[in-house]
Amino acid sequence: NATLQDFDPEIAQVLDRELVRQQTYLEMIASENFVPRSVLQAQGSVLTNKYAEGYPGRRYYGGCEEVDVAENIARDRAKSLFGAEYANVQPHSGATANAAVLHALINPGDKIMGLSLAHGGHLTHGMKLNFSGKLYEVAAYGVEEDTHRIDMDKVRAQALAERPDVIIAGWSAYPRHIDFEAFRSIADEVGAKLWTDMAHFAGLVAAGLHPSPVPHSDVVSTTIHKTIGGPRSGMILSRDTEYAKKLNSAVFPGQQGGPLMHVIAAKAVALKAAAAPEFKERQERVLEGARIIAERLTAADATDAGVSVVTGGTDVHLVLADLRNSQLDGQQAEDLLHSVGITVNRNAVPFDPRPPMVTSGLRIGTPALASRGFGAEEFTEVADVIATALKGGADVDALRARVKALADDFPLYDGLQQ
Ligand code: PLP
Repeated sequence: NATLQDFDPEIAQVLDRELVRQQTYLEMIASENFVPRSVLQAQGSVLTNKYAEGYPGRRYYGGCEEVDVAENIARDRAKSLFGAEYANVQPHSGATANAAVLHALINPGDKIMGLSLAHGGHLTHGMKLNFSGKLYEVAAYGVEEDTHRIDMDKVRAQALAERPDVIIAGWSAYPRHIDFEAFRSIADEVGAKLWTDMAHFAGLVAAGLHPSPVPHSDVVSTTIHKTIGGPRSGMILSRDTEYAKKLNSAVFPGQQGGPLMHVIAAKAVALKAAAAPEFKERQERVLEGARIIAERLTAADATDAGVSVVTGGTDVHLVLADLRNSQLDGQQAEDLLHSVGITVNRNAVPFDPRPPMVTSGLRIGTPALASRGFGAEEFTEVADVIATALKGGADVDALRARVKALADDFPLYDGLQQ
């Protein structure tokens, strides 16, 4: 019964140092968030010990009476939060949820059509090294060269020409709303199924601050750990139960073995939090923060230095800084912001002339800082730090001091015992 510190000090130190890193840096990776202590507690619990292959009431193992309660609560909360009739909370991650969706909807060799990775899509939407690109035929749509937006007339024309079996709506790096009704009507016209991957913007949907894909899609998948701010994991939803049996059997036994019951309990906790009024207030700060950053990075002094923002702004929780005309490439900009205490990831912009390991963009997200308590005032300050850094020639020590002041004002996991 030794503690982690006593039994494995090497790993205990990793946890301690990572806590300090999270407390010290300003976390602006758009796909990350900070879970509440209640989620940490559920996830770091004895539920990790339990095998529970199958579904509540129909397990292949004994002793599932308590974990059944947790999974039923998680499913009910998911359905009520998103207005869905079907929920599967077992996917270990967004990627395994997506594998199960395709497994349920189509057969290997059938055709999928999603947003290309280079224009903001996800690996699981048909990238050639991913299962999705290996098992299925792939046709990708892109954004327009001048507006960097998805043009639904072009998507329609492409769908008519390609005749995909599944059309995928959703993205990892696209700063605008997508038109789910238009996707639905195109899918109907070409006889395709519509799958929406709302991994990134699910928290905004839950808060009613983003159009919901649920009524328009055959199936919706999501992660729980991005804007929702829950444990690292995935989930599948559907407006009705038409695909329920196929989806359930695609997750288990199709893709996975035993579900992670500690994570499912933590999902239930996160979904309870997402139904509370404070969650909506937090997501409003997420959106406001992203708008403030987009405005600051499109102010005259920034554009004079070659900095701009993909699509000129944002409707969501992230901004894509466009550095194609800047002196800094994506890698240099990521390193520079790291040196002042801000963590972001470099990201290709559409039609990026630089290779994927370098890129000409940064993806900057606000969910984690909003969870930390940031509002308009703090986002205005952090936006100015970012713009000043990206313009070049800034006093890095002075910027680091401004970042430290913000981090000190908003303590994170104060007194947390690992
Ligand atoms: N779908 C989208 C749109 C994503 O952006 C991501 C994560 O980056 C995923 C799926 C995959 O999620 P995970 O990393 O949990 O497998």
